[in-house]
Amino acid sequence: MNRKYRKTVIAGNWKMNQVASGVKPFIEELKENLPKQKSCDIVLCTPAVMVPAMIKAGKDAKVAAGAQDVSKHAKGAKYCIVGHSERRQYHGEDDMLVNAKAKALLEKGIIPIICVGESLEQREMDLTMEYVSYQVKAALYGIDASALRRCIIAYEPIWAIGTGKTATAEQAQEVCEGIRTVIRKMYGARPARAVSILYGGSMNAKNAAELLAQPDIDGGLIGGASLKPVDFAAIVAATNQDAE
Ligand code: PEP
Repeated sequence: MNRKYRKTVIAGNWKMNQVASGVKPFIEELKENLPKQKSCDIVLCTPAVMVPAMIKAGKDAKVAAGAQDVSKHAKGAKYCIVGHSERRQYHGEDDMLVNAKAKALLEKGIIPIICVGESLEQREMDLTMEYVSYQVKAALYGIDASALRRCIIAYEPIWAIGTGKTATAEQAQEVCEGIRTVIRKMYGARPARAVSILYGGSMNAKNAAELLAQPDIDGGLIGGASLKPVDFAAIVAATNQDAE
């Protein structure tokens, strides 16, 4: 993390694992377990039908509501995930659509959390950085430096999502640093320094501190552990560590 230049973000990705009536009790339990002092922005991305409940319940706990996807033509929440590997895989979303969706969100004042990440085959073929660089360049195509300031990038190696196999802190740092280098080449040093890059892929209460201690990892995008208030609160607490 680098708090001097970037904000730290812990974002949960609930997918279809909760019901609207579970939002309020979840937030109450989360609130009880959160550290008094918070060093990060907290976001919970839920299915669209739960966004109103999250906006209402989250206000008091300072948890921002986010959506899990967006139509490139529509309106949405405060944050929205785009380009998640499951949308790319199961809904045939390509980089051009991810780019169009990110632009649509920015136009409406919504912060896109843009997901990128390689498959296991690509990692084994030593294609990780080439592939991820391509995804980042395509997702940001036509987005100017002032709009880039409102984007968040999430590096999510596909082989680590929902598998319990986390990238090592070194592997995650290497790719997040590489993503920042790509952004530096596109926009220059200052905008690159200011972009928050999250890691996602089996981040949990145990491994969060080591991942978040890396200089180019500015937070997490969390699936499974975001469904457990105590674990999610522990990940938030792991951002309360010394950083530059
Ligand atoms: C995700 O679904 O984006 C994710 C990172 O899931 P998990 O934390 O469960 O690996």
